[in-house]
Amino acid sequence: MLEVDVVLQQDRDTPQVLPYQSLTHVEHNESQKKHRVNGLKNKPELIIVTGDLTHDADSPDEHAKRFRLFKEISSKIGGAQIKVVPGENDAALDGGDMFREHMGPTHYSFDHRGVHFIALDNVSRGRPEVGTEQLSWMKSDLARFPKSAPIIVFTHRPLFDLKPEWEWFTSDGDQVMNALAPYENVTVLYGHIHRENFHQAGTTKMYAARSLIFAFPDPATTPVKKPAPFDKAQPFKNLGLRRINGNANGSDLQIEEVELATAEYSGTVGMDQMLKHGSGDAKDE
Ligand SMILES: [Zn+2]
Repeated sequence: MLEVDVVLQQDRDTPQVLPYQSLTHVEHNESQKKHRVNGLKNKPELIIVTGDLTHDADSPDEHAKRFRLFKEISSKIGGAQIKVVPGENDAALDGGDMFREHMGPTHYSFDHRGVHFIALDNVSRGRPEVGTEQLSWMKSDLARFPKSAPIIVFTHRPLFDLKPEWEWFTSDGDQVMNALAPYENVTVLYGHIHRENFHQAGTTKMYAARSLIFAFPDPATTPVKKPAPFDKAQPFKNLGLRRINGNANGSDLQIEEVELATAEYSGTVGMDQMLKHGSGDAKDE
């Protein structure tokens, strides 16, 4: 779960920010997250969730309850369009049936303010895979656009081999990347790894941001896949978010990694502090 404010293009009258919530893992009381988004000074037009909207559950009834809770919370987020893809917690156990029933298709595309968005499902086949059918759908979807078109792909797992032993990869991710390669302005946003990462292949830039829950350690330094142990003295250690600010015309974008453990932005107090300043604001306002 995290928020990133991506300034697509911005002018004073029409703030166009794109908070990107990576993993919400809805289980019980989620009202705080809703308030975080509603507290933004510039109300988002579009919110993207890169999967794991729900935490999976042993009983389908319980899982359905979590989807309903997600929908209830997200419907109260001030007027923003919410676009989602499934994570393995949402869709791996039943091939995405429950996700489709509550949220709609697991892959699709749409346009928003001149940017083409592609929602890609790499979880519902029960393994880290996009599959040939979806791949050919994506290719024909892309074929309508010039090579210079701004494209944002959002998906759950990384499309490259970040740590295959931990399922931090997509087995046919190379084919997705090859299909995207001729396009010059592609950004991929993904979730799943609960930590920040930047990776570039050709001109395609791929981002994951910190999580607000279940921080994972650096896989290069840890042999076993498990969340970083909870430290009572530093409850927000390794958790955080990424802020992006830029000029009013959308140029000069700057990325700021915020760990909520720092004195400046400590825990929920730090979140409130950021909202007071309006985390979606351009710096020159
Ligand atoms: Zn996941």
